[in-house]
Amino acid sequence: MLETLKSPSAMQQWSQKKHSEGKTIGFVPTMGALHRGHISLIEASKQENDLTVVSIFVNPAQFSAGEDFEKYPRDFDGDFKKLEQTDIDALFLPQASDMYGDGFATFIEVRGISGKLCGAYRAGHFTGVATVVAKLFNTIMPERAYFGLKDYQQCVVIRKMAADLNMPVSLRFCETVREQDGLAMSSRNAYLSADQRHDAPILYRALCEAGSLISGGQLLKFTDAATLIQQILKSSAHISEIQYGSVYDSETLDDISEQDAASYSGKTVTLAIAVKIGSTRLIDNLLVTVP
Ligand code: AMP
Repeated sequence: MLETLKSPSAMQQWSQKKHSEGKTIGFVPTMGALHRGHISLIEASKQENDLTVVSIFVNPAQFSAGEDFEKYPRDFDGDFKKLEQTDIDALFLPQASDMYGDGFATFIEVRGISGKLCGAYRAGHFTGVATVVAKLFNTIMPERAYFGLKDYQQCVVIRKMAADLNMPVSLRFCETVREQDGLAMSSRNAYLSADQRHDAPILYRALCEAGSLISGGQLLKFTDAATLIQQILKSSAHISEIQYGSVYDSETLDDISEQDAASYSGKTVTLAIAVKIGSTRLIDNLLVTVP
């Protein structure tokens, strides 16, 4: 039966009780407006754990001023129905005031990688993410936690935080679930007009074409792949801003478009994009193994 827990202390007590009964807990953090990408994380958790807990919390700390916190899609009734169908064990549904009480003063900053890629455009975003994920881990105390590779930088930041702070949780990073035309599923896709939605798969097309160049093994440097990403994105009538689009080191997130491909032979590099279509910010990425 799906139990809903609203306060961190009630959630913590629930988890402590389940642990005392010898159960393992898998945890899927979300901001709601659930889609098949979220459901895939839930399914992965159910396969590996006795119990699965999902959180829905639109975390104000990870939105900077002028971003879409207020209008971020919220569909609690729809989410609850979807969760009932997935047969999870508990839903953690805190209020912002439960998570950030008066005088809240403790933040987790994962230095270096948090300032790159999306971090350069979203001041404080990854500090907000790391802080809330740490709080959620302390509240739910899962054996395993599930994140989508769709938010690749988020995965890298959380992996670093968990390692640096010796957090006793195994992290699982799951494949991006896509619409039939290749667009990565995202709650923010709901913002797109019909014309914008029609054009949006261009992100994935740019990644795939550049990825094929790299996996074809003919490149001396990654420059041509990065240039191809830019060319394809610039051909879109609806992309109003290209924030980044290049080839990155999968660990450091540094742009490696000028590096020799041979120095990455056998390794996986990350092709990543962030654009605005109208006022909607979309990101996507593709991991490619260099021959
Ligand atoms: P969000 O609700 O957008 O904060 O996402 C919650 C979790 O779902 C994060 O770990 C995301 O990376 C993951 N996620 C979002 N979209 C997808 C997708 N299309 N495929 C797989 N995972 C996703």
